[in-house]
Amino acid sequence: MHGVVVSTERLTPSMVRVVLGGEGLAGFDPSGGTDAYVNLAIPPAGAPYGPVFDPAVVREEQPKELQPARRRYTVRAWDPAAGTHGELVLDFVVHGDSGAAGPWAAAAQPGDVLVFQGPGAGYTPNPGADWHLLVGDESAVPAIAASLEVLPAGARAFVRLLCDGPEHELALPAPAGVDLVWLHRAGAEAPADLLADAVAALDLPAGRGHAFVHGEADEVRALRRHLLGDRGLTRADMSCSPYWRRTMTDEDWRAVKRDFVAAMESDVA
Ligand SMILES: Cc1cc2nc3c(=O)[nH]c(=O)nc-3n(C[C@H](O)[C@H](O)[C@H](O)COP(=O)(O)OP(=O)(O)OC[C@H]3O[C@@H](n4cnc5c(N)ncnc54)[C@H](O)[C@@H]3O)c2cc1C
Repeated sequence: MHGVVVSTERLTPSMVRVVLGGEGLAGFDPSGGTDAYVNLAIPPAGAPYGPVFDPAVVREEQPKELQPARRRYTVRAWDPAAGTHGELVLDFVVHGDSGAAGPWAAAAQPGDVLVFQGPGAGYTPNPGADWHLLVGDESAVPAIAASLEVLPAGARAFVRLLCDGPEHELALPAPAGVDLVWLHRAGAEAPADLLADAVAALDLPAGRGHAFVHGEADEVRALRRHLLGDRGLTRADMSCSPYWRRTMTDEDWRAVKRDFVAAMESDVA
């Protein structure tokens, strides 16, 4: 599938929204979960194919150095009634000049083409839960925002989000009464511990909780250990995904992710 950039918007100094439209979105259906994601295929500069291409064909025909970078991004919103074949909204963290996806989003212009596969999904807030916990850094904000949109009025939810500073916060569509706090890395002595420490300090209610913990790998691991080991959540009541890892490109991360997840799961089985 592919989308054509309809518009872009700088939501914060480190977050760019890209709205995609066009006939390449025909049949797109991300209704499987509020963390639905697509697998982008971003060609290197000067690639002798595209702008629309079939990633499976390129995988067969092109040498390694001409393969597109593969990156996963969350469906922040999907409006099937907008445009000719619907509009897909993706929110990208822009984290400096390195990488494939962040720089692509920072430079995206109307008319640019983005090829992708998917969607996949794994989580929707369980309507049977007594309370919800949603935790993550900026990369998880699109999924957390989409999840907050489906929470019914009066739902009990605790949200802890990590960003660089106040100017990086986004207004999120949380139902009234949701306990939502942004934590700031800037000035913190141990930024990587902020999320786990904030969750450890929460006075969580009795009853069945349902947690969504996605984002930077080491931060997710610490949160998982705490929630399963100290709080007694069950694996079935927690969606836990290390999206990316500090100091690693996504290629480097994917090469070690299986071992990391196995080690993480052996922390608390
Ligand atoms: C299922 C899934 C859904 C995701 N949804 C989103 C989403 O909606 N929005 C989003 O922004 N990200 C999302 N991510 C994370 C995103 O795929 C990674 O951050 C990815 O590594 C970014 O690719 P890149 O090409 O920009 O940088 P890379 O080439 O992968 O990395 C270059 C450098 O930047 C660092 N880096 C990568 N990501 C970040 C970051 N978020 N903050 C600071 N430094 C970083 C790396 O450690 C590396 O040093 C998702 C990941 C998964 C698995």
